Parts: sequence; structure tokens; C-alpha cells
Amino acid sequence: MVKYQKVVIDRETCIGCGACVATCPYQALDIGKDGKSFLIWEKCKDVFDCIAVCPVGAISKTSETAEELKQKEWFSFDKKLSEEEMKEFEEWRNKFKIKSEPKNFR
Ligand code: SF4
Repeated sequence: MVKYQKVVIDRETCIGCGACVATCPYQALDIGKDGKSFLIWEKCKDVFDCIAVCPVGAISKTSETAEELKQKEWFSFDKKLSEEEMKEFEEWRNKFKIKSEPKNFR
């Protein structure tokens, strides 16, 4: 079952200020080597504080994100997902119609 909807990051809009990284209680966001934020998928637990602190409005709830933005690359895995997590990942992709794959931004 999909527990969390998670967030989408518009990496073209992100200015790399780090506010979202500093505010997330689960360390679910980090800055990639290109200087822009990305989501660590398995760590996001729908706190959504990152949305409020982003000065350029680059973060949104997955359920409220424009379809084309959801298909870009913005998330990563920090570990090998367990079987259960992988199942949830596939359910999450289907539920929110996400075609993009996890990418290593580090
Ligand atoms: S708060 Fe917004 S602009 Fe700043 S790093 Fe996070 S996504 Fe980028």
C-alpha cells in the first residue's frame, strides 16, 4: 500500500539554497553535484515543511504537481530498496503516473 505521496522537485526552478535540506526532519532532501536539490525517495514521509520554506516554489506535493514535471528526473534512492519498499515504489509510480526512473545525483 502507498503510505506516502512524497514531493516533486522542479530542478530547473531550484536555486540550490539548501533551505529544504535544512528543514526536512528525515534528511530526505540533498543537494546534487549540479547544485540543485533532489529527493531521496525512501526517506520522504510527507512532512511537507520543504514546500513552505522553498523561496522559489520549486517543491510540490506529488498529487498536486503538473504531469510534465512528474516525468522529469528529481529523485534518487540512497540504498537498495527492500522487496516491500520496491513494491511500494511501483505502486507509488502507478498511482501518481510517474514514468521517470531514480537517478544518482551525487
Ligand atoms: S528550498 Fe527550493 S530552491 Fe532551495 S534547494 Fe530546496 S528546492 Fe532548491
